[in-house]
Amino acid sequence: ANAKGVAVVTGGNRGIGREICRQLAEQGFHVVLTARDAAKGRAAAKALKQELGPKAGPVEFFKLDVTDAKRIRALARHLESEFGGCDVLVNNAGIYLEGGYDAAGSPIDSIQTEPMSKVRETMETNLYGPLQLIQAILPMMKTRKRGRIVNVSSGSGQLTGMGVGEAGYRIAKTGLNAVTAIFAAELTKDPKAKDILVNCMCPGWVKSDMGGPYATRSLAQGADTAVWLATLPKGGPTGGFYRDRKILAW
Ligand code: NDP
Repeated sequence: ANAKGVAVVTGGNRGIGREICRQLAEQGFHVVLTARDAAKGRAAAKALKQELGPKAGPVEFFKLDVTDAKRIRALARHLESEFGGCDVLVNNAGIYLEGGYDAAGSPIDSIQTEPMSKVRETMETNLYGPLQLIQAILPMMKTRKRGRIVNVSSGSGQLTGMGVGEAGYRIAKTGLNAVTAIFAAELTKDPKAKDILVNCMCPGWVKSDMGGPYATRSLAQGADTAVWLATLPKGGPTGGFYRDRKILAW
């Protein structure tokens, strides 16, 4: 790998994930763009390479559905054999299962009526996937005594204030914030992990397929804080929840 190191991004084929891949490659990282659909992932990697030109870091595709434990293990083996490790992991992939609207036009997203099937599906993708990826990749970071892990969360995972959104999504994103804090707390006590920083962030309301056309932020604005956390210098913060590069309570 090149001087900047290797960065893995999940859900890299579209939306904020694709933009995170673009910005990291622009900074010279060797980007491993992962996606669950091989055709979409390959096409995105190819298009990014064309957009970025020869000065940027390489962008390669690796097929990964974050709910597939076998592919997570295959990714870890690939990183080990190709690069001898991994410098950055961005857990970006996520789903938001709309509940539709009631007769009065209000969204059906209450925890009181949330079907368990939706909770389970959302937890698998938005929480257990990222958790398993961290478990798989962290040992390589510990070997090198360095790493940056960024979990793309949401204001919906904030219990302080007025978190909004579909209940399963809110539960999963709150869990992702907790996973971030728990990893950071453990690693802070580990002398081999002093330079492994684990943070989560909210991109804000971003114009993507998930955010919709009325969202207030561009993909570039949505990706900014994630890329900043992925490139923190040694001694930078760990265990925090950020938006616009500022720490927030959750
Ligand atoms: P999009 O819906 O535009 O993109 C989601 C990405 O996640 C796609 O690449 C999708 O792949 C991928 N994905 C979904 N499920 C899986 C899976 N099981 N395995 C691998 N990849 C998967 O969303 P955004 O870009 O807007 O969202 C990115 C992140 O930002 C999410 O975690 C989201 O919760 C968070 N976020 C977004 C906000 C917004 O306003 N947009 C606000 C707050 C947080 P595929 O193309 O195959 O479906």
